[in-house]
Amino acid sequence: MSICKYKDVRKSLVRDTKRGPLTRSVSRITHLVIHHSATRQGLAGSNAEAFARFHVQNNGWRNIAYAYVIEPDGTTKHCLDHNINGPHVGNHNAYSIGVCLTGDFAKEKPTKEQEKALRALVAYLRKAIPSIKYIRGHQEMAGYAWKNCPAFDYKKVLAASDPAPAPKWTQEELDRLNSAPNGARFSRTLKYIRGNQMTGNDILAVQQFLGVTPARDKNGKVYGIFGPKIEETLKKWQQKNGIKVTGEVGIVNWRRMFGEKKEVPKPTPDDSKPGPKPYIRVTVNGKQQHAFEQKDSAIKWFTDTVKAGIRWILNDKFRKPGGVIPV
Ligand SMILES: [Zn+2]
Repeated sequence: MSICKYKDVRKSLVRDTKRGPLTRSVSRITHLVIHHSATRQGLAGSNAEAFARFHVQNNGWRNIAYAYVIEPDGTTKHCLDHNINGPHVGNHNAYSIGVCLTGDFAKEKPTKEQEKALRALVAYLRKAIPSIKYIRGHQEMAGYAWKNCPAFDYKKVLAASDPAPAPKWTQEELDRLNSAPNGARFSRTLKYIRGNQMTGNDILAVQQFLGVTPARDKNGKVYGIFGPKIEETLKKWQQKNGIKVTGEVGIVNWRRMFGEKKEVPKPTPDDSKPGPKPYIRVTVNGKQQHAFEQKDSAIKWFTDTVKAGIRWILNDKFRKPGGVIPV
């Protein structure tokens, strides 16, 4: 699980550069403490930047209290390195990491985006900082029982689960796409991710299609890497072809680049092979007595052997439900 709408604001937030932060070893962190900001959502000053200003300029702290702030739209702002003990919970700071949801949850509710982002962040931090043993609300920390923070049922939020995202494309759609000339198949949206560029044969195929000179490794071998140049060329190509200009290669773009297989014939029942012969069962009182290929033979047998008042059933095997003909 990764952080939702991650935004790194560690360098831009107001902090006391003269004193610098208090630090600790990340492996000392045992507690993840959840807060609310107690400032109403949507008001000016109700965001990580403003909290940092308030904490530093007003309270005289070295830096913002929280390592992470989750804004109402689900943006998760990374405010402090994990080894900085932010002043978020007094004498517990040295071994805890603070996460704050913007909002006054005594008066309003966290947004769905914030709840989802909190689940993602907690999952991420548990993995990133394996020494974390306890997830707590601020007021559950010793000495803070009087505080109404985080003022929402964070346990319930954490216990909820996020539905798996619907698969973007059906397997059938993917199967119908042609492979690129280099053999690459389409399996994911290709796009330029700043700082962590996508690489792969599928990207090389797109690069070659667009005529963007591919990169070479130290042995001179070309490889695919989705950089700004491909994004730019792709956008021009999308514009020229009347495709939505996204700078990303999804299924529509791939199909335009490399085409689609002609209608894949669906497996149909093979009519040339003789199937089971339809036959007529004669059933008496629910028990099959005989089976005939011809209806006439069945009737003959029936009239010859079975007394009136007994029902018989015609059953065209496997193809339609048996019909019941009362005598
Ligand atoms: Zn708090």
